[in-house]
Amino acid sequence: MGLPNSSPRGHLLLDKKYLAYNEQLDFLSQIQEIVDDFILEDTKSITINNQIALIYTSDDGEMPSIVKHFGKDLESDFEVFYLDIAKIASVNGGFGNFTAKMENEENISFAQAVVFVYEENLLRFRGIYSVADFDNPQSLMVYLKENLGIYSYKEVISFKNEICQYYHRRDKHCSKCAQICPTFGVGANDSLMELVFSPIDCTACGLCVGVCPTGALEYEEIPKEGLEEIIDLYEDKVIFLCDYQGYENLIRQNFILPSSLTPLVLPNLTFLNENDLMSMLQTSGNEILIFMQDLENQWIESVVDFVKSITMQIYTKNAIYYTDNVEEIYQRATEIQSFEKYLYKNRYNKPHRESFAQRLQYMIKDKDFGIAKSIAPVFYGNIKVDSTRCTLCLSCVGACNVNAIFAKEDDFSLRFNPSICTTCGYCVTSCPENVMDLSRDGLELNREYFKSKELAKDEPFKCVECGKVFSTKKSIDKVFAILSSAFASDEKKLKTLQCCPDCKVKVMFGGL
Ligand code: SF4
Ligand code: SF4
Repeated sequence: MGLPNSSPRGHLLLDKKYLAYNEQLDFLSQIQEIVDDFILEDTKSITINNQIALIYTSDDGEMPSIVKHFGKDLESDFEVFYLDIAKIASVNGGFGNFTAKMENEENISFAQAVVFVYEENLLRFRGIYSVADFDNPQSLMVYLKENLGIYSYKEVISFKNEICQYYHRRDKHCSKCAQICPTFGVGANDSLMELVFSPIDCTACGLCVGVCPTGALEYEEIPKEGLEEIIDLYEDKVIFLCDYQGYENLIRQNFILPSSLTPLVLPNLTFLNENDLMSMLQTSGNEILIFMQDLENQWIESVVDFVKSITMQIYTKNAIYYTDNVEEIYQRATEIQSFEKYLYKNRYNKPHRESFAQRLQYMIKDKDFGIAKSIAPVFYGNIKVDSTRCTLCLSCVGACNVNAIFAKEDDFSLRFNPSICTTCGYCVTSCPENVMDLSRDGLELNREYFKSKELAKDEPFKCVECGKVFSTKKSIDKVFAILSSAFASDEKKLKTLQCCPDCKVKVMFGGL
């Protein structure tokens, strides 16, 4: 990015004429210290040799002249392979270590490649470049040469499989991270139901972290714990949020930040989720102003719109203003609205929806503000159970890894807290009775939505032999109804249907 790590991000935007300039600079230095604490060292490296593939398409079997010329220029520094895409069966490996398997069974190894045809899957690899992305052949050549030698990279994304809603499940109920990843940084292996991480392909854009509904992914450059430390410093300030790219752009335009705003410059904004934005809003007590150039980015747009719709319904004012226009920043800085403050500590060892629920309850109090509709891919919803048919087998409880649905042992009830449910649907498909109904309409802004409620209830069933509780009445009644006619002539077997496992054996092999 060309920004020195040691300079407080954002200081170049401050107005030196403003009296509190030094104070603001000190403040930004504090933030830089927190960021420095989390800076990751390069942990891995690979060697990039000079083997390069030029991948092209041809209408008449001839190599296009542009490819020939480009290859000629490269040949003094590289060993060049010319590959017709129609003759490639597959490309495997990664940056520094690719292998193209050709239709004639030949394997071609190369460290980097340039493609002269639009091929989305190839371009998701780091180390494979499209000519179309460079202004001219010279700049591409310089880039390829700079890659030669030792290439170091970091593992920016970490993963907790225990709260992942894809990992080792029987059916696919998530993989949002793999779907949104623009490279092969994270992919989904559906035959193993495991995520596959490729740090070398990861561009650290943070999208997978932002979109993850449970917080199973962490952005290690600024983990959520560090982000909260930073946000805490913005109490009573007006946050002007932008990413490094936006920051550089503002500097190029000689932009000077209005003194009423305090910059918060992050590597990217796409790793933020609804709870992060709400933390900023409630800690600062002021509207957030975002400078964002990629207004088309679906994730950040959805999450911002979702938070805005909540504050609109509760406070009837917009909490977040985003723009890609410098003039609008000056204008908006004069119209910043204040919001209700709430200094709450997020729970980092729990899925982020639990903290978000706490924050929302504070805003809602005992009122009802209707429903904040889900905005894909931010889904909230609710679950209904036909309690007359539920046997309390608890398959749904075993399926849920965020504890939104759970069993209350002391009264044999099945309970559900919609505010922490991600609406993944795994409980629904795990239910053998097919009595669950999931809606993804949105988040209900009333007190009841944040409390656990009873979905179904049963009575304990005691073993008819020893009196030990071993099941629920409904599940035994169901089994009895199905098997009693088949066992009608065998009194022993009939009795085992109402026995605990220990007594079942005794009854079968002993007397009645
Ligand atoms: S988005 Fe999160 S929960 Fe979903 S598959 Fe990825 S890591 Fe798992
Ligand atoms: S309650 Fe069901 S839909 Fe909600 S998170 Fe748990 S398993 Fe997924």
